[in-house]
Amino acid sequence: MKTTILLFTALLFVAGSAIAGNGSYANNGEEITFIKNNKKLPDQYVQRYFRSSDVWKKFTLKNGKWYVEFDELSGSPHRAFGKPIAINAAGNLQTKALHFLNTELKDYMIAANDIHFVGSTVGEKLNYVNFVQYHKGKEVLFSSLTLRISHNDKVMMFGLDIYKDMDINVNPALSPQDAMSKAVQGLVSKIVNTGYNKELKILPIPEEDGYVHRLVYEVTVHTTNVDRIPGKYYTLIDAHTGEIVYRQNQVLSCTPPQPPPPINIQVQGTLFPTHPYDPFAVIPLPYVKVTTTSSVYTDDQGQLILAGAGPVSATISLEGRWCKVVFDNGTVAPSITTILNSGSNTIDFDSVTDIKHLTAYYHITKVHDYFKAKTGLTVMDIQMIANVDVAGSSCNAYYNGDCNFYAESSTCNSIALVGDVAYHEYGHGINYEAYQAYGANFSSGSLGEGYSDLWAMGITEVPEIGIGFYKMSQNGIRSYSGAPKVYPDDITGQVLEKYKP
Ligand SMILES: [Zn+2]
Repeated sequence: MKTTILLFTALLFVAGSAIAGNGSYANNGEEITFIKNNKKLPDQYVQRYFRSSDVWKKFTLKNGKWYVEFDELSGSPHRAFGKPIAINAAGNLQTKALHFLNTELKDYMIAANDIHFVGSTVGEKLNYVNFVQYHKGKEVLFSSLTLRISHNDKVMMFGLDIYKDMDINVNPALSPQDAMSKAVQGLVSKIVNTGYNKELKILPIPEEDGYVHRLVYEVTVHTTNVDRIPGKYYTLIDAHTGEIVYRQNQVLSCTPPQPPPPINIQVQGTLFPTHPYDPFAVIPLPYVKVTTTSSVYTDDQGQLILAGAGPVSATISLEGRWCKVVFDNGTVAPSITTILNSGSNTIDFDSVTDIKHLTAYYHITKVHDYFKAKTGLTVMDIQMIANVDVAGSSCNAYYNGDCNFYAESSTCNSIALVGDVAYHEYGHGINYEAYQAYGANFSSGSLGEGYSDLWAMGITEVPEIGIGFYKMSQNGIRSYSGAPKVYPDDITGQVLEKYKP
């Protein structure tokens, strides 16, 4: 018997759905979107510009190290996290969150009247508090003021997707009936019925130089096609011009019924792909260990398909194929125990560990892959220990069979955040392991330093090594952009020019 499965999308504007240009038709000609570029990556120069603003500097001066990604069109901190900030206010989560917004972030804030509480959730580790923005009494779509607050009242993360300087007439030119008749234009399926939300909304539309704001009607059009498959079109109609700004079918159909899909896993985390003066990003975590009844590893894209159907309990750990991360000479790698379901599962390590672990893990696996691809050698197919935030010293790293990175100090960042240093220390490992594998011994300290830097330069193609090391300067530790030094001409009393670390 042939049946039809209807999947109702839980969210509007699902990432990855077909996106076309402004006002154009996509898919079956019925779906329309205003989103022109949904895969845009942060621009490091723009990010740097907003990070160096007086407002953000004031915030970090008071609250210590915080990482931030700005909305590049609005200049508002879209996501920020860092050293937990205590809230000195009594009351419920809503009150505490508002206090934080209006004290620590008051320079970014909109009028208090425009902040509307949506809800709060008490999680196992964190509380989540959410607000949306209103303007002239109308809800601003896609606005969000979100905070993650620990159970001891410290703000761990916040995000402000808010819009300032809106100049918008909130009196519609169109009647609801006009809007509904516009909403059905271009639909080929039979219209069953049409409804609208009497609360008009404000839609921020990203343009080249900033957001433009439109007053919109939310209209829902129910349809049925020749196969009697229903459609439910969530539609935004410009309340001044009548333009269909957005229209998406919330009913996705697939026939015939399928067996349960396999368990697809994507493991990811927020880390610095280069160094802490470039933006952080959510990056797939390759070769991560996934243990159910036995252990397997994600591939080089952080993905894994498990045979059989979910749900199944699994532990996913940064004890990877080529790197295990520990914290200050510990022995246990950060891990997540979770339930994996049939279909897609995204495992995000941000909730159980921090950017230092994730950054070190990422760069060690990256240099492993680079070495192997360049040489074809398997001598480094070992699980390198990345020992992060080693106490007792700072501004340095060393290799002793493990890669060791010192903790943050007043002059230096946590060294694990600097990709070049991971490549360099791993390079010492290559010197040691590769020579030994061929029955030789690598003993030149100076040459070893230079060799180790080569791995960093090979990967980054940047002659300056170690950007991100220092707090007060964005310079690296050394640079290879000068004239080359050649043996024996450039002997300077020592065996060779000596470098550290
Ligand atoms: Zn070294």
